Amino acid sequence: MSEKNFATGQCLCGAVKYTVASAPFRMGQCHCDDCRRSTGTGHASNAFFKKSDVNTEGDTSSYGAVTDTGSIITRHFCPNCGSRLWGTNNAVDDVIAIAVGSLDDSSWFKADAIVYSKRKPKWDCMDESIPTFDEMPPMPSNTPKQ
Ligand SMILES: [Zn+2]
Ligand SMILES: [Zn+2]
Repeated sequence: MSEKNFATGQCLCGAVKYTVASAPFRMGQCHCDDCRRSTGTGHASNAFFKKSDVNTEGDTSSYGAVTDTGSIITRHFCPNCGSRLWGTNNAVDDVIAIAVGSLDDSSWFKADAIVYSKRKPKWDCMDESIPTFDEMPPMPSNTPKQ
């Protein structure tokens, strides 16, 4: 891995690794039922990058689930250790959402928004200074498209 990378990450067992070339264009936390179930905790924390900025190594398994708007989010995980790694949405082709907990160093992460807070469990406490939405707000205009 090059020292020029913005970030690096991997699954628990190390079978899947990735590098990220530049900073995310958005960061967020989601409390929807699908993120809660697939992470096994109160929310998913994701950093959103352009796909072309992310290089992955090793095969993942994946599972596609339909969102409220009818798009499909495909969540990728390590077939060996089960770690959540990243997700893609077929409505925004050039975007990859990295699961922040899989990064080697996530100290730079700060969510721009908390979404689906209406589904947030009471025990999952959030920073009240972060803009919070009951459901999914409209897609911001800086979202890359192909
Ligand atoms: Zn693994
Ligand atoms: Zn979600």
